Amino acid sequence: MESSEKELTKSKITQGFELSFSFDPEKLKEPYSERKIIYCSCGSVVTSSLCPFCGKKYSSVTPLRNGFGLFKLTSGKQTSDIKTHVYCIDISGSMEGNRIYSIQSTIKKKIQELVLVRPQDKVAIVLFESDCFIIGDGMTKTITVDSDSSFEDIQDIINKYPTVHPISESFDSLMNKIDSIKTNGRTASISGLWISILLVMKTGGDVFFCTDGMQNKGLGIDSVSKITQALKSQHGSTVVNLFFFEDCDSFIGSFSSIASITKGRVSSIRLDNVKKGVDAAMKRENLGYDVEFTYKHPKGIELDKGIQSMHIVSSSEAIPIRYTVTNPDLIKKMSSLKVQVVMKYKAPNGSEMKAVIEGLIDLVETVGSQDVKVVISTTLNVISQLVEQNNFKDARDELNRLKTYKFNISADEDKMFKETLPYLESFIEQGQSGAIPKDQVVAVLNNMRSIKPSDISTK
Ligand SMILES: [Zn+2]
Repeated sequence: MESSEKELTKSKITQGFELSFSFDPEKLKEPYSERKIIYCSCGSVVTSSLCPFCGKKYSSVTPLRNGFGLFKLTSGKQTSDIKTHVYCIDISGSMEGNRIYSIQSTIKKKIQELVLVRPQDKVAIVLFESDCFIIGDGMTKTITVDSDSSFEDIQDIINKYPTVHPISESFDSLMNKIDSIKTNGRTASISGLWISILLVMKTGGDVFFCTDGMQNKGLGIDSVSKITQALKSQHGSTVVNLFFFEDCDSFIGSFSSIASITKGRVSSIRLDNVKKGVDAAMKRENLGYDVEFTYKHPKGIELDKGIQSMHIVSSSEAIPIRYTVTNPDLIKKMSSLKVQVVMKYKAPNGSEMKAVIEGLIDLVETVGSQDVKVVISTTLNVISQLVEQNNFKDARDELNRLKTYKFNISADEDKMFKETLPYLESFIEQGQSGAIPKDQVVAVLNNMRSIKPSDISTK
């Protein structure tokens, strides 16, 4: 989770101070683990040997990578790994010009990407105006589906339709067919949509349906409920995404049940920049649905109207998470501020998933020039006592804390001082390993207590 600040100076933290984080859903595409998530009795996910929220000790933890972990709870439907992607495009007269050019170029870009990452997948093109045209993968003869064909006639045609080839084989013919698209005629949109859904249902996959006008040919609105019924009884692996131009908002309603039943999207494409609009709408991808959030954060901050649930989580829409400081004194006692968000959702194939997301902000102390000497000498004193007690681990933690201080001294002096710390660290390490006698380490630390940063030189 990206936080608005990487580190915060403690003096800046006051009552009402706002902290914000954002989560990029693209991360939900990362590989998942099937191991169990370990929870602390306080409700947080145990991600380090000490629970950051209650301090309880743990010997095993839930591993996160860069503050993120994805876990599969239950398996979804066994879908074949091969998917079919059908682009169902309105080529009626009104699509002429910018609209059809933008769609052609976006689809070509998508197929170019797809052939690299999923060459075994299948892509088919269906066009509709007064009649429908099954271009398919472009390798077989185009089939014209007369607009008088019934719901059942269309089912028969698709049942007999030849197998679509993988993109790795059909790529060139697809590109040629997309380039040769011409606009003309009226709008048999529901017939085209039904053809596309049937093609996808053979393997599972997605339909990208794009139109800019009300259906006025072929199957009527009464077929929408039949299509919804067919989608309900299939195994749930066909996703229908609908794209409309902004000036068609008035009739999106009649189609949108088809998208929502498949957890697909209904997107309206802006008219001021059609090219950009088509690109953005088609690029978005559904990554999960039925999303529920739970939050865990330390006392002293409060969640600002956090999102509790989301219907669909899609790529390219970051999820914002905001907190307000309610007790600055509690927060200032910590060296870093950690928050956790657990996102429970269903993956597109129905698997139940959990994403554990951690956000971290380092809290640093700014030390005024008159206090620098005191802080350094006090810390070195504590370190030398810890070494004397053979507590090398805490001694090194204390030294690490010294690194986080922001000394209000000249940049040169600060740099010079910070450069000496690794030497000190290796000195303590050698004490721990026995390479240098412990007493000698203590003696050096005691001698160093009286120094000012400006006294120290690495030369
Ligand atoms: Zn805990």
